Parts: sequence; structure tokens; C-alpha cells
Amino acid sequence: MNIKDNLNHIKSTLPERVTLVAVSKTKPVSDLMEAYNAGQRIFGENKIQEMVEKHEQMPKDIEWHMIGHVQRNKVKYMASFVNLIHGVDNVKLLKEISKQAKKYNRTIDCLIQIKIATEDSKFGMTQDEASELIKSKDFSELENIKVVGLMGMATFTDNQEQIKKEFSHLKSTFDDLKTLKTTNCQLNTISMGMSGDYPLAIECGSTMVRVGSRIFGHRKYKTVDSRQ
Ligand SMILES: *Cc1c(COP(=O)(O)O)cnc(C)c1O
Repeated sequence: MNIKDNLNHIKSTLPERVTLVAVSKTKPVSDLMEAYNAGQRIFGENKIQEMVEKHEQMPKDIEWHMIGHVQRNKVKYMASFVNLIHGVDNVKLLKEISKQAKKYNRTIDCLIQIKIATEDSKFGMTQDEASELIKSKDFSELENIKVVGLMGMATFTDNQEQIKKEFSHLKSTFDDLKTLKTTNCQLNTISMGMSGDYPLAIECGSTMVRVGSRIFGHRKYKTVDSRQ
């Protein structure tokens, strides 16, 4: 299967309410252009420098999503064009995003990352932490960001029951926090689900899936078949 076929296949299985982010990290611009020419306009990257370079080289009607962990000192490089930052998990980072967005006279949409996995390596806030953040005075003063939803990553496991539990936890966190409407917080997006688990994520209420290898093929080091 090629990139276009992969994309069309995945899109044909997605309900209308679900947005597809094509995760293109590590892939060359030529691969991204194949997806672009097949109609894809939303791309996700996890390294700011790589996203900046691709943004410079590609058509300007693309929506760029930052899906990786963000270092505060690098926000300035993407502030002029990034459309959605998925992995925000502290107020200091939000402050920096707002400050940089202000320089370009724009508002940057963000998702708060909730920790749903059992692994220590995954970032994110608890529901209580996120709730306190949204209600805080510091947060209310941020004029150039808008929190539009939540993001989560399930544990890397084959145990479907566990993944389902974690996705359902994110959905219920979303339903609870959605009631906290403020000028810069209105939750409408749940970003959950990757190549291995997006159908399950959609069953559990996802509105945005981040799919990489199912579109572009495996990344690095993994041999695709015995001919290699
Ligand atoms: C790499 C990545 C994805 C996509 O992973 P695939 O398994 O290739 O679909 C999704 N979300 C995040 C945060 C990622 O870093």
C-alpha cells in the first residue's frame, strides 16, 4: 500500500466528528507531499526544529500540530504558525506560549495533556491539577492562548482492556472539565488514538486521532519485510 491508499483507507473508517492528524515525524518532505496531494492538510510533528523546516518547505495551507513534549525555550520558533499544541502540561509553558503568540498578534490553541498511562515516562497532569490550572488567576490572565481540549497517550501494551480503561478515563476527565468554561478555555477536542489503538480510541469518544506509521510506514530501524 502507498501513502495515498493508506490515507484513503483510514479516512473511510473515521466517523465525521473525528479529525485525522497525519503524524509525519522523521519522514521526508516528499512523503508528506504525497499525503498533501492526496488531500491531507493536517500534519503532526514531535520536534519543533523539524516542524519549522517542513513548514518552510511546504504549501502554506497546512495546519501544523505539535504533538511532542515542548521545551519552553523553543516555543518562539513555532509561535508564528503552529495551529495546535497537544502536549501542554504546566502553566509556565502556557505563559510562554501566550507571550510568544502575542508577538504575532495571534492566539494559539492548546490541549492539556492528561496522564492516563501507568508508565512513568509519559507526561501529563491529573484531572485535579488540570482543573486547578484552568481555575487559576495566572491562567485567566493569558490572553493569547486558548485551551480547546485534552490529549492523552495510553500505555504501550497489547492489553486492550487496559487501553480501553485509560481512554475512558480521559473521556470522563474531559466531560468533567468541560463544565469549566472561561474566556480562554472551552473544551471541544479529545486527542487520543494512534496507529495501534485509534479504532478503540474512537469507540471511547476520541475526536482527534494522531496516526503515523499506518499512513507513512514504520519509522527507522524497523525492517518492513525479509527482503531488507
Ligand atoms: C509518534 C506519535 C504518534 C503516532 O504514532 P504511530 O504509532 O506511528 O501512529 C501519535 N502521537 C504521538 C504523541 C506521537 O509521538
